[in-house]
This record gives sequence, C-alpha cells and structure tokens, in this order.
Amino acid sequence: MQYISTRGQVPAVSFSTAVAQGLAPDGGLYLPEELPDLKPHLAEWSKLSYAELCEAFFAIFATDIDSAELKEVVARSYTKFAHADIAPIVKLDDDRYVLELFHGPTLAFKDFALQLLGNFYESQIARTKSRISVLGATSGDTGAAAIHGLLGKEGVTTFILYPDGRISPLQERQMTCTGADKVFPLAIKGSFDDAQTAMKTVFEDREFAAEVGLSAVNSINLARILAQCVYYLSAYFRLPEDVRGDITFVVPTGNFGNVLAGWLVQRMGLPIKGFRVATNQNDILHHLFQTGTYQLDDVAPSVAPSMEIQVASNFERFVYLLAEKNGEKIHTLWQDVNAGKGFDMSDLMANINGKYGFASGKSTHADRIATIKQVYAEDNQLIDPHTADGIKVARKEGEVIVCAETALPAKFAETITEAVGKLDIPRPKHTENIEGLAQYVTVLDNDANLVRAQIEQFVVAK
Ligand SMILES: *Cc1c(COP(=O)(O)O)cnc(C)c1O
Repeated sequence: MQYISTRGQVPAVSFSTAVAQGLAPDGGLYLPEELPDLKPHLAEWSKLSYAELCEAFFAIFATDIDSAELKEVVARSYTKFAHADIAPIVKLDDDRYVLELFHGPTLAFKDFALQLLGNFYESQIARTKSRISVLGATSGDTGAAAIHGLLGKEGVTTFILYPDGRISPLQERQMTCTGADKVFPLAIKGSFDDAQTAMKTVFEDREFAAEVGLSAVNSINLARILAQCVYYLSAYFRLPEDVRGDITFVVPTGNFGNVLAGWLVQRMGLPIKGFRVATNQNDILHHLFQTGTYQLDDVAPSVAPSMEIQVASNFERFVYLLAEKNGEKIHTLWQDVNAGKGFDMSDLMANINGKYGFASGKSTHADRIATIKQVYAEDNQLIDPHTADGIKVARKEGEVIVCAETALPAKFAETITEAVGKLDIPRPKHTENIEGLAQYVTVLDNDANLVRAQIEQFVVAK
C-alpha cells in the first residue's frame, strides 16, 4: 500500500516514510492511495482481542513493515492500558452507550495512537540508525500522550508546544513533570491555533526539518488516524449484534482526527449509520455542517480546551476525499485557509447526511455543565466536559448512539466540581503524586523563530 498527499504535489510513499515524515513535503497530509474493503474480514475480526485486531488492521496498511515486527510493536503498545478490554463499552440506557477511551497512561484517547507511534518510531530508529526530533502542538492531551509515548526512546528528542494557561493543571503536569532530559515542553503565549501555526512554520523549512530529523506527532500523522480506526471496529464488535447496524457515533471534535478515523472505517465498509460531530462554542465545524461554508473565526477559550480549534488539520483529509482526491483543488483552497480566509464547499457537502449519516451539534458551557449533572444524577456516571458536549448533542429520539468518551473526568476536575459539587473524583494511582513533582517548561512569545531556536539549541548543537 502506498500513501499520497492531499495537496497532490509529491509522489506516493511507503507507510514507513509517511509515518516518519508526518506532514508531506508539499504541506499536505498523507492518505492511503486506495481505501481497502474490510467487509471480507469482519466476521473473523469480530473474534479478536484489541491488540490482535489492531495488528490485523495494520497488516493491510503497513505493508513495508515485517509482520513479526508489526506484531511485536502493536502488542507492546497496548500493555499500559488499565482496562483489559482496552476500549470498553459502557451502556447508559437502552439506546445510549459510551466508548471509554481513557484507560491509557495519560487518561485521554490520544494514548491509543501515541503509544503505538512511539513504538513505530523506536523500531524505525533502530532500523535506520538515525535520530529524530519530534515537534508537536497540543491543546493539552496530545502533548501529554506524545511525551509519554516517546519517553525514554533512544534517539528521540521531543518538543511540545501548548497555549500557555489554556490547558488543565493535570494536563500541564503530565507534560512538565516527567523529569526526562530530552523532553521540552514549550508554553506559547497565544491560542492552540497559534501554537499549531508556529509548528507548521518550523516544518516549512525543509532543509532544517531534514537536518534535525523533524517529525510530527500531531493528528496529521497517518499512523495516528489508522490507530484510531481500530477502536471504531472494536466498539462495533462489542455491541449487541441487534444494534450494531443502527449506531451513530457521537464524537467531541476539535482537530477532526477522531471523527475522520471513524468515517474512514465506514468508507472501508463497516456498516454503521453515521456520525454526529459535537462542537463547543467554537463552532466552525457545526457552522460548516449547517451551511456548507468553512468560515474561520476567533477562538473563544472554554473548559473543553481540546475542542478549541479553528483550523482543524484533519479536515483537509475529509475535504480531499469528498473532492474525489482533487489535490489541486485542496492546494488552492488551503492557500485561502493559510491566508486566514475560509471557503464555500456546499457543493461537496450537499449529500453528506444522506450518504454518510453525518450531522453536527453544538454545546455551550451551560449545556455542558447541565449534561454532566444530569448524567451523574440519572446514570450514575461522571463524564468529562468533552464527552458532555457529545452527550448533549446526541440527545435525539429513536437513535442508538455511541459517544466517544475522550478523557477521564479527573483531567478536568474544576469543571466537574462546578457541575456536581465537591466530591472525590476518581484518579488512577500513578497520577496521585504528580502535584508534588518539579515542573520543567519554557514560556515563549508567539513566534516560530523562538521555537526553532529551541530546537537548534538542543538538537543541532549536540
Ligand atoms: C483531542 C481531544 C478531542 C478532539 O479530538 P480531535 O481528534 O482533535 O477532533 C476531544 N476531546 C478530548 C478529551 C481530546 O483530548
């Protein structure tokens, strides 16, 4: 299987190359040349454990990786999850389920991809004897998951940008308290989009990127999207057979990676009804699904920071596939996006609900608080603020919904307390002492040159 860029300006590459590069050299994102048909595999796959399912799925995509190596990398990636099912399904009532994606080491769904990506990097470094510098921008959870996925990997130096003061205290501590000497958390004075733009700017200097072996861990990395496809399959197999075909996945959405992974699996033949994209007050995506126009706006800070995103990276993959892989068109549309302008794509969106069951909804702070309160009272479950946004927009009669529970409530303790009052919010043992550890972080003005200077100081100089 070969991988092509959404901007259509570079030749197709192998799986390993696509993973190693992260972002394609033309600024586009990689996608499989063809989406395979999974239908012939489904009966057999329904019997597999999570790690076995992941291995079977990746065997179709990672065709240039030796199968014994793939098996070993995948198996190792799911050993640090606290639940035997890895991604368990919990029933709220007859037609509502949650898919718990927070049992990994940093307590949010990003661990599914980043544990695996860390191990792919490690085997690649062992094979090529080259070093890499990982550069990522995070709204909180990706950075923590990336750092914990890459910690202690030989030959890897990690730089993670995050918006200063806009992530939760536990998220910040997961990044800044590792004590690891090749991990550099960089707090940018700006929004997540500023951090992401700074990251992309550093990547654009291809000579520099090659010199320091720059690689992206943001959800622009293809391996992350593929890793996330697996829990949609797993969720489907874990649901009662009589409801499987009726389910709509509700996905709290920011950078569009999670819902994109689900949509890819649907396009590869998993028979599910559709998707509901849940946004918070930063509702550019909801607006898009309502009007067909992608209109950039200012970011309003919220207590669901992982959804505070305007320029959703993975959205480019979605538009590319809707546009029948017209790379030229994407190249042109994204010139507008980079200039801070949006675009009208109502032609491409015309039948999106009819064809794929795609719809969207929006939740406000008051909705979120009310939903956390209600689910706690009625279903005796605590849910995190992102999941609450999902449950809020999912409430519609006559549908079977599976809401992706994207983080553990304890990551956002302040909001939980606001909703249900002071109570003991369960937190895993390994995070209990984190408040007592020393923090290491560098605060930078919003300027890509300062980020680059950090990499020069800690990688080039060495
Ligand atoms: C990353 C994240 C999201 C948004 O997911 P995308 O793939 O960026 O759309 C939602 N909730 C939580 C808790 C997250 O960490």
